[in-house]
Amino acid sequence: MGNDVSETGSFSEKLRVPEALTFDDVLLRPMESRVEPDAADVSTRVSRSVSLNIPIISAAMDTVTEGEMGIGMAREGGLGVLHRNMDIEQMVAEIERVKRADELVIRREDVVTAHPTQTVREVDEMMERKGVSGAPVVDDTDTVLGIISGTDIRPYLEVGESDAVREAMTDEVITAQRTVGARGALELMYDHKIERVPIVDGDEHLVGLVTMQGILQRREHENATRDDTGRLRVGAAVGPFETERAAAADDAGADILFIDCAHAHNLDVLESAREIKTSVDADVVVGNIGTREAAKVAVEFADGVKVGIGPGSICTTRVVSGAGMPQISAVAEVADVAAPAGVPVIADGGIRYSGDAIKAIAAGADVVMLGSYFAGTDEAPGRVITMNGKKYKQYRGMGSVGAMKSGGGERYLKDSEEDEEFVPEGVEAATPYKGTLSSELHQLVGGMRSGMGYVGAETIPEFKTRSEFVRVSSAGQTEGHPHDVMITDEAPNYSPNN
Ligand code: 5GP
Repeated sequence: MGNDVSETGSFSEKLRVPEALTFDDVLLRPMESRVEPDAADVSTRVSRSVSLNIPIISAAMDTVTEGEMGIGMAREGGLGVLHRNMDIEQMVAEIERVKRADELVIRREDVVTAHPTQTVREVDEMMERKGVSGAPVVDDTDTVLGIISGTDIRPYLEVGESDAVREAMTDEVITAQRTVGARGALELMYDHKIERVPIVDGDEHLVGLVTMQGILQRREHENATRDDTGRLRVGAAVGPFETERAAAADDAGADILFIDCAHAHNLDVLESAREIKTSVDADVVVGNIGTREAAKVAVEFADGVKVGIGPGSICTTRVVSGAGMPQISAVAEVADVAAPAGVPVIADGGIRYSGDAIKAIAAGADVVMLGSYFAGTDEAPGRVITMNGKKYKQYRGMGSVGAMKSGGGERYLKDSEEDEEFVPEGVEAATPYKGTLSSELHQLVGGMRSGMGYVGAETIPEFKTRSEFVRVSSAGQTEGHPHDVMITDEAPNYSPNN
């Protein structure tokens, strides 16, 4: 930035420093508007080829995103980014869990089937155990012979529970081919008054199953983030040098690989990330960075860039290393370079309120990534703990001692196997238990829409160009929070401790 000592001959020149701002330093300037918050369109792009219906993704942390959070986030129109504090096989299983969650056709290996020689009682017990109310009946060659459901079984229970399934099943079974589609399957179900259609190949061998319940469930999530074949989308964190993990996650169907590094402006990291990009089908997002210089190199090959050097709620990078960039300025610097290059920007960390999230978008981000906001929800890993009568869930930095001991921490450039004495860059904490992800997202997205209403912008791209900031003094900050009152009832979207 032109204050190199060798140029100026003066260390004191170094103190002529640019100012960098963060969330509390700025507010959105209210502007003329006809936009009602409900009418604001919050869809956006998270990487070159992946769009989201809400501009929100969940952090790749072991107390935030595993399969359940991935499913929840994608169903709501966002995206979950699976953490990498698990071995490669586990990660593949979690990716598959998300990809399969809302699949129209349940795959053969997941379909509960009955054999014609089993007894009615055996099949009834099996269906109860597996939580299904009907099963295709297949022979040893997997040819579909019939279908058996609770309604076939129940009349038999009194008289013939030891009868063979063959006697009780419906043998005029309606099947369909793989190409049936949701509408076609529904028509078959309505026409024949059935609730499940076995999917077969040309030889009547079972290859899958479509159920009414599955179709209705998909309809409930009309806003979901789906790939071209209708499966939920999911992201996966990979270390910059983890080529094996990257290949496995890509093969398993991850839509975006997030190169997960605390300082991606490390040239070895960028080189390796560039190589990973050439070897996978998934989009590759590179992070974290916080300056325009880093952005210039990253946008040469990345499908998205992630910004955040030390803003996270559980993060101690700035106090431990003395390095960092206040988040609003970091996002703006990176967006100055990434936006003209058509590369989406993700603002990662430090977001406590919906107002912070929409400020990050105004500063140039296309999407925000949150950790602490989601760690207290049901969908986050870990159990609810009670302390002094209040409920909490664990939340820890991926650079904390606990996370590093259980296999993470490579992100913070520590070799956990050789170096037993860690230098952590994060803390272990607890966060208030919050209930469902969907109600948290409702508050978060609702607040962001409200910000768009105050600025008079109907879409995220319009909001990014139209919005303006004002600088806030510390008196202004105090004025912006509830003051001179004692809060008597908790608001669903405000906590003074944030
Ligand atoms: P939050 O939303 O809780 O403020 O921040 C979450 C973000 O903090 C994560 O997405 C990640 O970028 C960052 N992060 C997670 N663990 C650590 C850590 O141990 N140290 C640092 N410096 N950052 C972390």
